Amino acid sequence: MSYRKFRADHIFTGTEILDGSNVLITDENGIIEKIVPAEEAGDNIQQFHGLLSPGLINCHCHLELSHMKGLIPEKTGLVDFVFKVVTERHFSEDEILDAIATVEDEMLSNGIVAVGDICNNTLTLPQKLKQRLAYYNFIEVSGWLPQIALTRFERSKGFYDAFANSQLSTFNSQLSLVPHAPYSVSDELWKYMQPYFAGKTVSIHNQETAFEDELFLSNSGDLVRMYEMMKIDHSHFEASGKGSLQSYFDKLSAAKNIILVHNTFTKEEDVAFVNRESSIVNQNVFFCICINANLYIENVIPPIDMLMKNNCKMVLGTDSLASNYGLNLLDEMKSIIKHFPNVGLQNLLQWATINGAEVLQMNDQLGSFEQGKKPGVILLENLNDLQITPKTKVKVVY
Ligand SMILES: [Zn+2]
Repeated sequence: MSYRKFRADHIFTGTEILDGSNVLITDENGIIEKIVPAEEAGDNIQQFHGLLSPGLINCHCHLELSHMKGLIPEKTGLVDFVFKVVTERHFSEDEILDAIATVEDEMLSNGIVAVGDICNNTLTLPQKLKQRLAYYNFIEVSGWLPQIALTRFERSKGFYDAFANSQLSTFNSQLSLVPHAPYSVSDELWKYMQPYFAGKTVSIHNQETAFEDELFLSNSGDLVRMYEMMKIDHSHFEASGKGSLQSYFDKLSAAKNIILVHNTFTKEEDVAFVNRESSIVNQNVFFCICINANLYIENVIPPIDMLMKNNCKMVLGTDSLASNYGLNLLDEMKSIIKHFPNVGLQNLLQWATINGAEVLQMNDQLGSFEQGKKPGVILLENLNDLQITPKTKVKVVY
């Protein structure tokens, strides 16, 4: 058995940052053996300048929208953004498949090893069958009209079955049915989906716009305008008089893990509610930050300081190229640091590695340098005193 040995200025293990006196040892296939003091590591050590980290985990992506790069104007607000995404349909299948392959390459070169990917069709499946990245496939369900609930459920279930029956390896075939957003899933549709939540990770776009709370509080605002724009009959809906998250969260009680995506308008009282309810049913809730998409669509920043103060578990996502310039978690970290300079490198890396692995149920393989895992090895170069700077880069080491 031959070994590979890596040494750098620092090693981030998945939970803590060690100094340069340690050496990371893997077998020839990248499976972690151990981290040892340099004097016990023997010879043939590869030396790097920077910080070694496990590969990064992108918890929110829409790979199937990769062809929409630059198509939608910035800062229009969520309602006009969603309207554009669903009406831009003039692309050939070849264009879409090419974009998917290009973007997967981009993610790999940016040090990403696993992705939580939203799917509204099976167009990403051929690329995923190449097994270059690990995916948790979130088959998305949406439909606001109660009378189309069964049709919409059956369509998504068809995609779910196509993924389930494909030749994806066990490691790469994590799969669940997920609601798109509180404002796009009727009560009837929720009922069809709920039996599929048990033991799964379920993601949902949460409080991405202030109008989401307004809809549930008073049945007014820009989402009502969206239904009118899309000619969707909205007369069945009754406001709960509570905010969005507190109105729907209990519908997810059977899920093992929940990813709340965006949370741009989540309030402290919502977090307290979620913490209370999730502890009763013993489930893990993760708040996924996609700050560059929030800046792109609504020009707002998510309340990261409030979420941290309340000990929320955090993960990172890029969202899609319809609302971002690249699928690069380091760029997400750079934007977070710009708005929240005190977050700290160790926190950011935990969100991007071990927390992501935990919520995507890939913790036995990815997210940390623990013996027996194969998490990938990346290097962060051009750090300044353990701080990310605009010049910081990711290099894939293994
Ligand atoms: Zn999204």
